[in-house]
Amino acid sequence: MDDMIEVIVNTEVRQRDATEAITIAISARALFDMEEEHELFLTEGIEEYINQQISNEDVPLKEGIVMPFVKAVQMVNVKLLERNPEEKQLFEVILLSTHSAESGLRIINSVNYYGLDISKFCFLSGKDPTKYLLSHNVKLFLSACESSVCNALKKRIPAARVMQQDIQTAGNQLKVAFDGDSVLFSDETDVVFKEKGLDEVIKYEKNLEHIPIGEGPFKAFAMILGEMKKKFSPENDPICTYLVTARSGNDLGVRAIKTLRNWGLKIDEAFFMAGSPKGPILAHIQPHIFFDDNASNIEGARKVGTPSALVPSGCI
Ligand SMILES: [Mg+2]
Repeated sequence: MDDMIEVIVNTEVRQRDATEAITIAISARALFDMEEEHELFLTEGIEEYINQQISNEDVPLKEGIVMPFVKAVQMVNVKLLERNPEEKQLFEVILLSTHSAESGLRIINSVNYYGLDISKFCFLSGKDPTKYLLSHNVKLFLSACESSVCNALKKRIPAARVMQQDIQTAGNQLKVAFDGDSVLFSDETDVVFKEKGLDEVIKYEKNLEHIPIGEGPFKAFAMILGEMKKKFSPENDPICTYLVTARSGNDLGVRAIKTLRNWGLKIDEAFFMAGSPKGPILAHIQPHIFFDDNASNIEGARKVGTPSALVPSGCI
């Protein structure tokens, strides 16, 4: 194998207008459940991995955690084109693999098997998969690799790490749930809370009530969804967004709500959980993806089948 080869496959027919597309980059290990294959790579080495992928080229990979999200995103594209056949501001999904094109045919075959509209496949032969994110104008990056996610966040690209899990999603809308602090919002309030405790953080928020909270790593992606929602009437809106925050409504909710208002970001449903577990409400919502920076919130969400993506802190 020539490990210097990098291959980017464009499926010309599906290519979006790069200036207007909302590009989402997903690693192959996020889209497909490749845990057995990854384990083989780790234990037996790259040659065994390649041989296994080639000999199973026609065997579709198992659906992974991000698959329902990708299908829902593509449903939104259909709705956008129904509304306006000339619509250019569509989601574009590109797939990144750190393996070579030689072993990538199974991935391409699997994408075709599930009928997914993936416009580009990038096979990077061990190279950093985040190095093309900026040139592809990526607006969201989902990966199973924590260091790749951190690298993307350093480039100021909304990014989160997923792990394979049992998933339960429902509904005919794209449903995206966001945590507040350190996800939509910056970590400024988290820092005060960790350093000084709840009483002081309540005073801090009260004093700054009229000043928006800093922008978090996922503000930009939430704004994109917010803008897209404006194209639809409420009864035909194919996107539903949720804020599920540990903040309490009475003490800590005011500044959060005023911040969203200041940004012009309309969130469909907001849940101020006052520190209660988020799992039960997420089990009810059944979003296609939930973003949180807190590992125990992610664990609670995973337990109820919510596809969960960790936004690691400390990368930036
Ligand atoms: Mg948080």
